Amino acid sequence: MSLLADISPRRALVLLMIAVVLLASGIWMAIRLTTDHLIDSEARSDAQDWALYMAQNVPDLRQIAAGEQPSAASLDFLQKTIRSGPVVRYVIFNRYGYSQFLADHGKAAAVDVSQFSRAAEQAAKTGQTITDRASDEGLAGAGYLVRAFVPVIEQGVVVGTVSASIDENMKLAHIRHVFLVAALSISALTVIAFTLPAVAWYFRTREKQQADRRIRFLAHHDPLTELANRERLIERLNGALMLATPGDRVALHFVDIDRFKEVNDWLGHDGGDFLLKTIAERLSTLTRVDDYVARLGGDEFVVIQPHIEDDSQALGFAERIAALLGQPIPFKEQQIKISVTVGVAIWPSDGTDSERLLKSADIALYCGKNAGRNCIRRFAPEMDAELRQRHKLERIVRDAVIENRLELNFQPVFAMAGKSLIGFEALARLPNPEGGYVPPDVFIPIAEDLRLIDKIGTWVLHEACRTALTWPGDLTVAVNVSPIQFESQSIEKAVADALRDSGLPPHRLELEITETLLLRSDGKAIPVLKRLKAMGVSVVMDDFGTGYSSLSYLWKFPFDKIKIDRSLMASFEKSGRNAEAVVRSIIALGREMNMRVTVEGVETAKQVEFLYDANADQVQGFYFGRPVPAGEIAADLLNRLREQRESASAAPAAQS
Ligand code: C2E
Ligand code: CA
Ligand code: CA
Repeated sequence: MSLLADISPRRALVLLMIAVVLLASGIWMAIRLTTDHLIDSEARSDAQDWALYMAQNVPDLRQIAAGEQPSAASLDFLQKTIRSGPVVRYVIFNRYGYSQFLADHGKAAAVDVSQFSRAAEQAAKTGQTITDRASDEGLAGAGYLVRAFVPVIEQGVVVGTVSASIDENMKLAHIRHVFLVAALSISALTVIAFTLPAVAWYFRTREKQQADRRIRFLAHHDPLTELANRERLIERLNGALMLATPGDRVALHFVDIDRFKEVNDWLGHDGGDFLLKTIAERLSTLTRVDDYVARLGGDEFVVIQPHIEDDSQALGFAERIAALLGQPIPFKEQQIKISVTVGVAIWPSDGTDSERLLKSADIALYCGKNAGRNCIRRFAPEMDAELRQRHKLERIVRDAVIENRLELNFQPVFAMAGKSLIGFEALARLPNPEGGYVPPDVFIPIAEDLRLIDKIGTWVLHEACRTALTWPGDLTVAVNVSPIQFESQSIEKAVADALRDSGLPPHRLELEITETLLLRSDGKAIPVLKRLKAMGVSVVMDDFGTGYSSLSYLWKFPFDKIKIDRSLMASFEKSGRNAEAVVRSIIALGREMNMRVTVEGVETAKQVEFLYDANADQVQGFYFGRPVPAGEIAADLLNRLREQRESASAAPAAQS
């Protein structure tokens, strides 16, 4: 069987069947030869017995052999014998081999016209019985005729020869039939004996071959999507680059699902798998024969697009990829909506070998991710520098978290009415080892990507609460919370711990969240926000009026406060009336919905004047105070409180 292992099971089975057929026919041949031999020897001895029997029972045999007529008694005996026995012919020869008398089966015996028989002559000469196979000799239907020539010896002298012919046809047919049945049975048994194990072996081998094929397939493919894996991709890419002619270009598209981890957490394992499979299918539908799709693991897919004429063809294809994958994916009565970032590298300009090309596409993807995802980026040489810068920043963020080097600044917030200080917003600061600070707009997204934001957020909460407790009265502290902190579900515990550890009354803590949280969590954050609110802390909608800004989010949760994004104040001087109108309507909306409205980024007296007129509740901005470290607050605070006291005492004086 091991020899057959290299042959395909189908061919092996055919070979086995041939072997079985050969064996069966061999058996059949052997049986035939044996039966023929058996019949022949039996017939010869029968014929001899009958010839002897006659020689002994015909008294005037010598006379008949000498040419006389048989006596009446002998004739009668001969006729009876020929009718009843298996002998079809008796012949009596003289001692020279010439027939003198002949009796045929069914016919009366007759005196023969003399005919010579060599066998009869031989028998007479040698005194030995001779047997032979005869042709039918005119006896119709006698196919298998055996003759025996028995010399008749009287007183030591041969007087003639008697021959008896026996027809063994019937017997032969019968024996052949019996043996045929036996041969067929043996053949059938042999076939079964061979075939059953052969068939069993065939199926086992086929199963094994299928399993082997599957194992070989899996070695080069991703089991979930059945797409090629990294190893196979590199092989294909090498092949595509080898086949590319000088005028050709080969594009490599790195496709990565934006925020796949969140989608995966949200949908559960099944949903995540379903999403990946759907993406694999969609990518496959987009490709032409020469294109090649692979999954590098996780949510990273790669498409090779060989034989393109110019770069725009590659970018057009990337756009089609992004558009198709952006189409809603129906899953369990839901519609999964995702976006992807695509990094494109083109041979030969972005890399002359597959390794460099993959790296370029990866870098392009990376830059797309850093640029806020949901975009297509073609590799550019300066991206290398961008990537190095990003790696540097990642290291700074990591080190700062490990070494606890983050700092917290506090920016005052004032009530419009009476311009009284009501609290501070805590803003994280990351010292740059090379001097200065890394802006939060830069390091917070990196910390989010690195999943360090939970740690940072928890630290900020503790630090902010602890600091706020050193402030007088009811001054509040606002803490910015990243959407990522809601994903890990650690936010409730972090807030509760910070309040408990610091002893700060919950109503003095404000949590600032952005619309992105509600947008991305698809409503899942709402119950968490409700529980936070139930703890007594305030929840603030930050950066309102930018980005996705949809009023619908204001209806979804009873925010305590809306913070109008600083970009509106920044454009105030330029866009004038427009910004004014937006700010006025947000303030009116807040009034309507029982939410206070804070305006951020107030920098000029003119803006303050307008906000006063527009009836804003609270203000925050460089005009009133920049973010400062906790240690510098004391002085600032003292000044403000003194101012407040002065204005409070000045008012009654003016009245009097
Ligand atoms: P934000 O929550 O909108 O914070 C207000 C930002 O506006 C602060 O920038 C502040 O310095 C700046 N700002 C205040 N007044 C003025 C003004 O009059 N003019 C101008 N041009 N800017 C003003 P910062 O500190 O650079 O923070 C930027 C963003 O980083 C914050 O925006 C916030 O989204 C995020 N961030 C800061 N600290 C944290 C934190 O501890 N956790 C989280 N998750 N995010 C933080
Ligand atoms: Ca804020
Ligand atoms: Ca803000």
